[in-house]
Amino acid sequence: CPTTPSHHHPLPHNKPSRGAHMASGPTTPRQQQQQQQRKDKLLIIMGATGAGKSRLSLDLATRFPFFEIVNSDKMQLYAGLDITTNKLPIPDRLGVPHHLLGEFDPRHGDFTPGQFRAVAGQAISSITNRRKVPMLVGGSNSFIHALLVDRFEPGSNVFEPGFNASVSSELRYNCCFLWVDVSLAVLTEYLCKRVDEMLDSGMLDELAEFCDPDRQDEDESTTSQTALRKAIGVPEFTRYFKRYPPQGRGGEGDDRERRKAYEEAVREIKDNTCQLAKRQIEKILRLKGGGWDLQRLDATEAFRAVVATTSSDEDDGKRWSEIWERQVVKPSVKVVKQFLEE
Ligand code: ATP
Repeated sequence: CPTTPSHHHPLPHNKPSRGAHMASGPTTPRQQQQQQQRKDKLLIIMGATGAGKSRLSLDLATRFPFFEIVNSDKMQLYAGLDITTNKLPIPDRLGVPHHLLGEFDPRHGDFTPGQFRAVAGQAISSITNRRKVPMLVGGSNSFIHALLVDRFEPGSNVFEPGFNASVSSELRYNCCFLWVDVSLAVLTEYLCKRVDEMLDSGMLDELAEFCDPDRQDEDESTTSQTALRKAIGVPEFTRYFKRYPPQGRGGEGDDRERRKAYEEAVREIKDNTCQLAKRQIEKILRLKGGGWDLQRLDATEAFRAVVATTSSDEDDGKRWSEIWERQVVKPSVKVVKQFLEE
């Protein structure tokens, strides 16, 4: 009903889940479509780091209040390093339930794609069983792939260079994919700015505590085995803190040298973040090429406005959110409404 006011949402069609359904060889495209529609509904928000996935997820979850968010960022699965890994702070979640966000102890080691498939699969079923609709949000495409394919082969990695297995488009759920895309040149500029903002908001203190060489002497396991050892920021600042331990203990010497080493670590973090974004976009294109029906939303213009923003100018902020609403949120709402009504 096109005249339905925005606070009256179509009821989600997800039925209590009896687990994901298996493919049983439909013959015609119509049968294939019908079989797909009988599966549990899942909205997936994909995109490179920094492209605005969390923002869009909240924009949608506040308009359609039956969504619950399941995290698919491999570093945000673990407790700790909240600023460094860019976890959405609790007040910013606006009361929307978030699952698998900081729930696991990083000292228990890395999640495998197969383990992620199992825990995220359970989270999705439990949301569906409560007649809510799950929304998967996060940038780890190998985990997203492992979770969504009908038949997952443990140990296989479709993104590994030279790996011949093709991406399967037979999926466990009735999926609707939104891909927030930002041109790499604009995203790079934004990501460098974001690293500076993260440092201003306490990333250095967080890393100082995490990477402190003294702390590691007490307990060897602190950084060498933790799943967070690979989070961007950790290797770069571990090297820095070895030379210049936190809180001015030792490492005295030339202040200029220290400044240079700090700037080098920050530069590495920026480079590695931009490299990550580039690889993530390549992986998304690979999935699209493999037949995943990704609806691309171009957020480049909105991000151009963000990078031009000076914190003192309120109009700049308004300008970016107006473009974001028009070019990203509005088309997403249209796609989601149609998906929910199917
Ligand atoms: P891979 O093929 O490496 O498994 P992926 O797509 O599964 O890639 P990504 O999420 O792209 O996983 O993460 C790859 C690497 O990028 C991580 O091991 C980590 O070094 C870094 N990384 C990813 N997400 C974050 C984050 N939120 N914070 C910090 N570093 C991150």
